[in-house]
Amino acid sequence: MDPSANATFIARITALAAEIEQQSFPDGALYVVATPIGNMGDISLRALKALSLCSAIACEDTRKTGQLLARLDIDKPLLSAHQHNEREVAEKIIHRLKAGERVALVSDAGTPTISDPGARIVDAVITAGLRIIPIAGISAAVAALSVSGLIGDQFYFVGFLPAREKQRETVLRSVQYSLATLVFYEAPHRIADTIAVMARVFEPSRQVVIGRELSKVFEQIHRCPVSEAPQWLASDSNHQRGEFVVLIEAANAGDNDRLDDAIRVLDILLEACSVSQAAALASRITGMKKNQLYDLALTRTPRSS
Ligand code: SAM
Repeated sequence: MDPSANATFIARITALAAEIEQQSFPDGALYVVATPIGNMGDISLRALKALSLCSAIACEDTRKTGQLLARLDIDKPLLSAHQHNEREVAEKIIHRLKAGERVALVSDAGTPTISDPGARIVDAVITAGLRIIPIAGISAAVAALSVSGLIGDQFYFVGFLPAREKQRETVLRSVQYSLATLVFYEAPHRIADTIAVMARVFEPSRQVVIGRELSKVFEQIHRCPVSEAPQWLASDSNHQRGEFVVLIEAANAGDNDRLDDAIRVLDILLEACSVSQAAALASRITGMKKNQLYDLALTRTPRSS
């Protein structure tokens, strides 16, 4: 950036900061503060202000939040709030809020409570009739959706799939006909397995978007038919490194009309036939694949044959 553009940029931030300074940050409230998912530039001025005004910060990992606060030059008492102690921490927070303090809630990265702890704390604060203020910012899911180019008004946030492959497949089969874009989070040691199961479950032409290391130096956004995704992941070991959001294009509405017809046929057949007989007969009636109908039949009836 040339020096004059740089000076203008800094002047703009200073002017904006002065504006935020005038805004009200009520006391006696819990501030749910989004933090960056990798790029410090994604911290908001409101987040900076809320974190510097609060009397304590509830966080998932005191070491990680300590590092974030050190970079922001903010020093506050930290309350460790993880999956197993949310109720007790909620009580401490409520006590502070009732005394008129401001308390912030953050997670390791992104928006608290989105595949992260904190919802029980928020619930307890609401139940106690106290105020909650969102300090919105980045979430990996929304960042990936915004650059996916997948058309559609709805998305369905699945988050992390179960660790066991069989259960992962069951969850994927339960959402495969959704008319919403599907959103998953995945860790590097499981990305190849998850993509392999996705390639098995979804129609080969369904688009997948793999958002890797969003907002970081090695950010990558790759879109391809799901059938080609395993090959792309295997083609370079770097493709399996880092943090991932995976999106699957929504099912086609036309397919879903066919599906509704198939479900009606299956439901009738299942009154008299086993799952495999119903799938075979429904395949002859509708022209759809027998294994697809078999999977569908399993979702309509308690598992039998
Ligand atoms: N609360 C966070 C949010 O708002 O996005 C999500 C927390 S969840 C424990 C962490 C997962 O989010 C990672 O395993 C990955 O799937 C996804 N994620 C977080 N940061 C990411 C990034 N920079 N790029 C891609 N995915 C990311």
